[in-house]
Amino acid sequence: MARYTDASCRLCRREGQKLFLKGSRCYTDKCAAARRTQGPGQHGSKKKKLSEYGVQLREKQKAKVFYGVLESQFRKYFDMASSKKGKTGENLLQLLETRLDNIVYRMGLATSRAEARQIVRHGHITVNGSKVNIPSYIVSKNDTVELKDAGSEKIKAIMEQTAGRVVPSWIDFNADTKKATIVELPKREDIDLDVQEHLIVELYSK
Ligand code: SF4
Repeated sequence: MARYTDASCRLCRREGQKLFLKGSRCYTDKCAAARRTQGPGQHGSKKKKLSEYGVQLREKQKAKVFYGVLESQFRKYFDMASSKKGKTGENLLQLLETRLDNIVYRMGLATSRAEARQIVRHGHITVNGSKVNIPSYIVSKNDTVELKDAGSEKIKAIMEQTAGRVVPSWIDFNADTKKATIVELPKREDIDLDVQEHLIVELYSK
């Protein structure tokens, strides 16, 4: 399975914002993006004026990195989003947000989306009572998502670290049973990624 290998914090610093790639550290004052505002590398302090294409590209990269999705898969989400009713950019973000690994992260069962992907791949998650080990699985309204081994020491340790995080209102999560119901699909205002999704649509529509 291909994956990003660039140091996580460099990716955040390149985009100039926190993308929450490293788990608990992202919520502390050790966060590199919060401490160092200049870009990564030797020439990171030089401000480059981006072309229109460059600005669009950066917005797409930001969304890809935030959700941990590679280019071909991201493009597929875009095609799915454009074939749905409504605004393509919002549809795209909704698809990314309803990936099973993201749901597990939002439930606070993982400190990062990368860890959530691992938990899903290892078969610890059920959807509507059946095991699903595909991180890119898209959940639907009224689906239930549950952690199988809810009482494990590992999960207790993770949930201590994620205790301060707020579960979004579109997910009804029971912290005792580690079970959640998707009460509605997320709207744009429910998604906390600071991205101009219309620029991604413009990029792919060329
Ligand atoms: Fe990004 Fe900060 Fe987390 Fe590093 S610690 S991955 S810079 S949010």
